[in-house]
Amino acid sequence: MGGTAVESLREALRGEVIGPEDPGYDEARAIYNAMIDRRPAAVARCADTTDVRTAVRYARESGMDFTVRGGGHSGGGLCVTDGSLMIDLSGVRWVRVDPEARTALVGGGSLLGDLDHEAHGFGLATPAGIMSTTGVGGLTLGGGHGHLTRAYGLTVDNLLAADVVLADGSVVTTSAEEHPDLFWALRGGGGNFGVVTSFTYALHPVDTVGLAVTLWEPEHIGAVLRWYREFLPAAPEDLNGFFAVLAVPPGPPFPEEIHGRKMCGVVWCSTGATDEESLARTFTPVSDPAPPAFHFATPVPYPALQSLFDELIPKGLQWYWRGDFFDRITDEAIDVHCTFLENLPTDLSTMHLYPVDAAAHRPDPADTAWAYRDAVWSGVIGGISPEASEAGTVRTWAVDYWEALHPQSMGGAYVNFLGADESQDRVRATYRGHYDRLADVKRTYDPDNVFHHNQNIAPAGS
Ligand code: FAD
Repeated sequence: MGGTAVESLREALRGEVIGPEDPGYDEARAIYNAMIDRRPAAVARCADTTDVRTAVRYARESGMDFTVRGGGHSGGGLCVTDGSLMIDLSGVRWVRVDPEARTALVGGGSLLGDLDHEAHGFGLATPAGIMSTTGVGGLTLGGGHGHLTRAYGLTVDNLLAADVVLADGSVVTTSAEEHPDLFWALRGGGGNFGVVTSFTYALHPVDTVGLAVTLWEPEHIGAVLRWYREFLPAAPEDLNGFFAVLAVPPGPPFPEEIHGRKMCGVVWCSTGATDEESLARTFTPVSDPAPPAFHFATPVPYPALQSLFDELIPKGLQWYWRGDFFDRITDEAIDVHCTFLENLPTDLSTMHLYPVDAAAHRPDPADTAWAYRDAVWSGVIGGISPEASEAGTVRTWAVDYWEALHPQSMGGAYVNFLGADESQDRVRATYRGHYDRLADVKRTYDPDNVFHHNQNIAPAGS
């Protein structure tokens, strides 16, 4: 994309167009995962839906490949490639809450923190991820799970409508009533169908929540997982708790003597127990498997929980991740977790099991593209380091861990947890019996597969 091409796009857009010669180029092309270092032809920082339509049409008419960037959090760097136009939605970042209807209209480039902040002003929230810096775009289109999932389902279960710029630059509103096939596909099918410039979500009364963190010494991991696999699925829907293997972060609320120590733990969120007394009652059972090395429970405003990990894992670290869904935690899986906790390669590397049961099991499996309504956990193994020199080490640990654990899984992963270099078979395993229907919708809305920098679904018949 030469200087003249950058110029003509610049004239056509309301937002900025940043080319390789411009001072902001390195900042504009950088994404959350520093392992991805790519040089797009230009970054079209769209200001609104019209800019997105113009950028899509421009790319198509000039035969240019393009990517779509929401919050820039995809592990595999799906939003940026060498030599393509990056259609960047970071200028489409706004939220409007309707407290009467309990809905939020959210710009397609907004971050979870934008949504949480604005909704919290009205004592409301909707389920999304566990970091305020993640984009609503990629997270929602993949499905979306987090601290409120057991209480209120996946993010897509709370999606009411979306405005989508299609492959020909036209724009449609989709909902259960309008373009229902597209609406079905957007709820889990990833960025395959168009650029979503706004999402409408249902909100729920969530204000103060009970946050708790329980850690146990590594030698108790077997007992803890055997307890957790029974306790969590039987727990009331207002209690969420994701299991983790980790090294204890070096800061409050953790006492100094355990900083950096390898442990296993659960990060809890209760929408039911929100005062000291009910929190103490709710978490009495955490001593059942073994005495915790650390337990902390406190009421917090929901956005405080949502930004808990922001400082611990800021933008600019090296990441490699892989995932799988689980409907049970087998004894064999427990042995694998035990081994890879012992071999944790860096203090930031981790494995999480996020619950996707309870309210997330309620929708009919045929109603959304999300294809694992029978899964109880969505697992992710993240090899993470601040040092580029450790990129290979964390990748090897994550891949070895995944290969050892995969036989104990349901066979497919949450689409947003697929590794950067996984095969097309893995995308099919994500969508199981829904793949062919997704391919039909893809043929209708994007027959030329112009939206292909994603976990790609090929148009049927192609
Ligand atoms: P981007 O990299 O900007 O985009 C990723 C993909 O989505 C691209 O293919 C892009 O084309 C497409 N896309 C993005 N926005 C749009 C849009 N508006 N319209 C069309 N296509 C779009 N996931 C969870 O469910 N729960 C979690 O708790 C969670 N925690 C995470 C924590 C961290 C630290 C990280 C790095 C990721 C986490 N994820 C979680 C995974 C997250 O959902 C994915 O990485 C997701 O892709 C991020 O979306 P994004 O918009 O920031 O990504």
